[in-house]
Amino acid sequence: MTSQLDLIGNTPIIEVTRLDRGPCRLFLKLESQNPSGSIKDRPARAMIEAAEADGRLKAGGTIVEATAGNTGLGLALVGGQKGYRTVLVVPDKMAREKVLHARALGAQVIITRSDVGKGHPDYYQDLAQAITTRTKGAIFINQFENPANPLAHEQSTAPELLRQMGGDVDAIVVGVGSGGTLTGVGRFMKRASPKTQMILADPVGSVLAPYVNSGEMIEAGSWTVEGIGEDFVPPNADLSLVRAAYSVTDQESFAAARDLLLREGVFAGSSSGTLLVAALRYCKQQSAPKRVVSFVCDSGAKYLSKVFNDAFLAQEGWIERTRSGTVRDLVINRHTEGSAIEVRPQDNLRTVFARMRAADVSQLPVVEADRIVGLVDESDLLGALLTDEAHAFTRSVKDVMVTRLETISADAPIKDLVPLFSKDYVAIVMDGTRFLGLVTRIDLINHFRVKLQ
Ligand code: PMP
Repeated sequence: MTSQLDLIGNTPIIEVTRLDRGPCRLFLKLESQNPSGSIKDRPARAMIEAAEADGRLKAGGTIVEATAGNTGLGLALVGGQKGYRTVLVVPDKMAREKVLHARALGAQVIITRSDVGKGHPDYYQDLAQAITTRTKGAIFINQFENPANPLAHEQSTAPELLRQMGGDVDAIVVGVGSGGTLTGVGRFMKRASPKTQMILADPVGSVLAPYVNSGEMIEAGSWTVEGIGEDFVPPNADLSLVRAAYSVTDQESFAAARDLLLREGVFAGSSSGTLLVAALRYCKQQSAPKRVVSFVCDSGAKYLSKVFNDAFLAQEGWIERTRSGTVRDLVINRHTEGSAIEVRPQDNLRTVFARMRAADVSQLPVVEADRIVGLVDESDLLGALLTDEAHAFTRSVKDVMVTRLETISADAPIKDLVPLFSKDYVAIVMDGTRFLGLVTRIDLINHFRVKLQ
């Protein structure tokens, strides 16, 4: 009988047919088809089995790792099947879906800061090392230095890929997180297909592409794409294998992942978007036809709340909207675009609770036609429950909502929000006489964050 672990590897390759590839053919190896949904299942199994083989990992032992998420999911899956405990240290910028997935696999997940560098005790790799030292029977997997990581790609990903391509590949586009894919695939190709060029796709802000292109180590910035890009050169990343390197912005990466789903039907995560942008750039620069392969490193399902969430894109300022420098810019979910989270006066409080919880908000506008007629918040819900517990959830919104509303014009300057927030109000933003949407403190905070980036 086939087990879940037997499903690791042997992933399919598809050809991109609708995006502009210049004179080239572009193929994608779907590592998203691995059991935990990413390319990291291969090294996760290999690193666990290497530790078992050399006697460091014993029955009842604990696996500790610093991970952007996917290595952790692979380790939690394989470790769980083999009866080990898994502790994962994850930087706080990672998508919620991965953290929920890891916990559901039985792993203990420790979230740490993503704004500190190597050497800081809260840096995810330093923290994972410290947890290992104080936990009995624990091993630190350390994908950044563990030789079983690149070896997994050298022995499985690369030979599979070359076989599937009939032995004919001109270039392979990869990202570097730990460097396992680059180094493993690159080493194999050097031996088995010397004509194959390794191309690096790297997020803007990462030190790797600038280092390859200029030999200089820049100061690392920040980026939103998950799983690739580094603030140091990992020991497992052999950058001498790289022939050309491209830096790609977050906005381009996210747009490419969305385009890939829309045009080609391929559901991929943010790092795959980065790889795709670099691959297409490389393809279009060629004068002769080339056969180019890249990866879908993980599934888009892990990023529904980010890459495929219009509100997230709007918060980052990545949705094409004209900027007016007024309160209008801060209205993320707009009634006029059908995306406002709202209720009607005749809805009941069960509906209010369901919408608040689903959207993770603590108040809702009450809207009738295009007019705002009230506001309902958590304290109105709680008040109704404390007055008459048995009937509270079936009561109508119109019975509990607040109707004395202070509004602000969408064309008002952003600083006019401050007095409203000082009075503990949310801002009800009007476009003339029509309701546009709500602005809360977090929207103003986010506005400053994006402006300061
Ligand atoms: N994409 C994603 C989404 C990842 O999680 C990773 C691993 N961090 C990579 C790409 C890069 O793989 P590697 O660690 O082999 O460099």
